Amino acid sequence: MKKFAFTLLLLLFVIVLPEHGQAASGTSKIILDGKEITAGQNAPVENVNGTVMVPLRMIAENLGYKVDWNQTTKTVTIEQQGKSLKLVVNQTSASVDDKTVILPVAPLLRSDTTLVPLRFIAEQFGLSVDWDNTQKIVTLITPQIPDSNTGSGSGSGGTGVVTPPSGNTSGLTMINGVSFSENRLIIAMEGSSVPKISKMSGPERIVIDLPGATFSDLFGSGQELDPNLNGKLAVTDYPDVSGVRYSLFSTDPYTVRFVIDLNHAKNYSMEVTGDTSKLVIVDLNAQSTEDTATLPGASGRKLVVLDAGHGAKDSGAVGVTGKYEKNFNLAIVLKTAELLKKESNIDVVLTRSDDTFLELKDRAAMANNLNADMFISVHANANSSSAASGTETYYQREASKALANVMHKYLVQATGLKDRGVRYGNFHVIRETKMPAVLLEAGYLSNKGDEAALFTEALQNKVAAGIVSGIKEYFGL
Ligand SMILES: [Zn+2]
Repeated sequence: MKKFAFTLLLLLFVIVLPEHGQAASGTSKIILDGKEITAGQNAPVENVNGTVMVPLRMIAENLGYKVDWNQTTKTVTIEQQGKSLKLVVNQTSASVDDKTVILPVAPLLRSDTTLVPLRFIAEQFGLSVDWDNTQKIVTLITPQIPDSNTGSGSGSGGTGVVTPPSGNTSGLTMINGVSFSENRLIIAMEGSSVPKISKMSGPERIVIDLPGATFSDLFGSGQELDPNLNGKLAVTDYPDVSGVRYSLFSTDPYTVRFVIDLNHAKNYSMEVTGDTSKLVIVDLNAQSTEDTATLPGASGRKLVVLDAGHGAKDSGAVGVTGKYEKNFNLAIVLKTAELLKKESNIDVVLTRSDDTFLELKDRAAMANNLNADMFISVHANANSSSAASGTETYYQREASKALANVMHKYLVQATGLKDRGVRYGNFHVIRETKMPAVLLEAGYLSNKGDEAALFTEALQNKVAAGIVSGIKEYFGL
């Protein structure tokens, strides 16, 4: 459970930063075992959205790890103590040995080097990492006795972080994520926990207990979790709901609790879908606890899952003037969902409805578990060449090709940018989904003209309307 401590640390690290500023150079000092280390004149350290990014050569020269760079695949491999990390430029999913993990910020290409997230890498190899926000100092401490297994037992740097009990958590259900959209709470989990739901008053609330469950290592990288494993989800614009809280309610026996705080008494229905990767859906649109008619995609309506790429600490591409891809993606998805409300034959579910993070596999699992009829992932692109510009639509499976052609026609029309065509792309969310699925790359944030256009209200409205037209044409509605 060492990684858990890491995600908590990471979270504190992000929280204490004053603002989600733009990449700023030279703001951070790095101290390794009492000595300051520097990256050299040409390759400054950057602070991207609260994550300190350092040149790859610093990892090799100062930490002494074996570093390999593959120019063709833009892959960085870092090895030490028989452990291997693989990171790809502009990709937030990375691998630790054979396990997929999500990086707080994807590796970035700079003129003559690649920047990688320092804390993530240091923690993976068992270093203790601390952050002094006032003085902008990162302190790294090499463990006295290198742990040959997982690096467990390295200190938490005296930051007062409570590590979860080190008891055996195998066999427990893992809670991977939570989202709230369309008046529905959706909890993503892996395991066989059977949720218990109850209504309580004074104040009005709905309590969902998940016996035999705990938060997975990755939960904390997407959602807020304090040192005592409590957190809350930002819920705005829903008149019934004042907030959602969650906690590791008990460790003996293990229980995770979610609480929906209500502004007034409200009925709900609960549904659990999926096999090993499950979704618990608590629907506040229901009139009674027996009512399932308002679950998404019921009564013959077509169900579209809209996926705003990235979120929270994962900003996605960063534009030439510092604008974040995650914000563009979310804006498009919210505008599209708003337009789809008027379509009585189409239901829509969002993988995320605010600036939170969801793992790729949970995005795909959500669409699969809901038996969605269509999956659309919204993104904007970036390239090391600022000249790259234009609109692309990606499919991964043959079954998605027809949808890709239809969507692309409307997308190109809407953006008015260069037509870069319908393309094959082996992206997780469009590969692992079971329904027709496309990934839209509206334009290039690394291109000045594209970035400016993509962040205008006019273009965003056109893209949202174009997506709706594409959905309707594809379904023949
Ligand atoms: Zn993206």
